[in-house]
Amino acid sequence: MIKSDIIIIGAGPVGLFTVFEAGLMKLKCHVIDSISTIGGQLNEIYPKKPIYDIPGYPMILAGDLIDNLKKQASPFKPGFTLGERAEKITKSSNNNFIVETNKGKKHQSKVVIISGGLGSFEPRKPLISNLSKYEEKGVQYSINDPNLFINKKVFISGGGDSALDWAIYLAENSSQKIYLIHRSELFRAHKDSVSKVYELVEKGKIDLRVNSEIISLHGDKKLKEVSIKNKNNIIKKEKLDFWLPLFGFSPKLGPINDWGLEIEKNSILVDNTMDYQTNIAGIFAVGDINTYPGKLKLILCGFHEATLAVQSAFKIINPNLKYTLKYTTVQGIKGFN
Ligand SMILES: Cc1cc2nc3c(=O)[nH]c(=O)nc-3n(C[C@H](O)[C@H](O)[C@H](O)COP(=O)(O)OP(=O)(O)OC[C@H]3O[C@@H](n4cnc5c(N)ncnc54)[C@H](O)[C@@H]3O)c2cc1C
Repeated sequence: MIKSDIIIIGAGPVGLFTVFEAGLMKLKCHVIDSISTIGGQLNEIYPKKPIYDIPGYPMILAGDLIDNLKKQASPFKPGFTLGERAEKITKSSNNNFIVETNKGKKHQSKVVIISGGLGSFEPRKPLISNLSKYEEKGVQYSINDPNLFINKKVFISGGGDSALDWAIYLAENSSQKIYLIHRSELFRAHKDSVSKVYELVEKGKIDLRVNSEIISLHGDKKLKEVSIKNKNNIIKKEKLDFWLPLFGFSPKLGPINDWGLEIEKNSILVDNTMDYQTNIAGIFAVGDINTYPGKLKLILCGFHEATLAVQSAFKIINPNLKYTLKYTTVQGIKGFN
């Protein structure tokens, strides 16, 4: 059981800023996200896009904003459970919330703050009939521990940043060549990454197959072979250790629908006159996931909501303590050891 003062569901910009605001009040947070990277929509959808409406930054790239938020939260040493979806919320006999992930990991806290954005990001899966048989048995949709794939025969499918970035990383760190399979000749990835891939193809570190796709999977308990169709419709079987179909992620509200929360238009209804608490006392919803009259799905609105939510969270966690707001210039940033 992982214990903290506040469980935060969603490691997007609003979840990260919640860690900071909670930390100022000496509240320890644990953050859960269904994907293995931190940053929510900013990292998943538009890391290189400039943002112009963050106070104090005339312009900042989405990926840089996430790096800054991580740095800002780091003195408060948040715990992270990444690559696991928060699936169930129950209450224990001592009035704590227990949040369980789809992989069975349990987390306990007095307060839950949901900053789940558009819902949990789920991998876009290729349409292959026996795909589920090999999930986590040779087929992986994200990379938590790159060491697992070093010096192994790895096929990566996809033409976006994630597919190319991992192909480059593994090709540069593995003694085995990496196989990159893409349905088209055009890539959606950053131009520098495309050039780097072609450089590694020249060096014999990446075997690039364009206009090709993996169409079926074979093996027993584990994936052993894939069938690849090339541009001339010729199908060839190849042996491998891992297949990483990296086609990006799409959001789904998913399990949040079943937690007894009041839902309106695919979002969680909160009390915006007070503290962004939901209809369940002790569960708050901040950022894109919530709704109330006049709601705007903007990062800075989520930051404001998180700041007010943790004020009420403090009172729930410390019913006998009074918190007096001080400016950070006066109190400083006293992180956790
Ligand atoms: C193309 C584009 C451009 C944009 N430009 C701007 C802009 O210029 N300025 C601006 O202010 N806003 C902009 N936005 C909106 C902005 O991205 C959102 O307001 C912001 O991402 C909301 O942050 P969040 O932390 O609430 O949610 P998100 O960033 O969506 O993060 C939510 C996280 O929660 C996780 N999650 C959800 N459910 C679960 C679960 N059950 N278990 C585990 N994890 C879960 C998800 O996987 C995700 O990582 C833009 C959006 C898009 C798509």
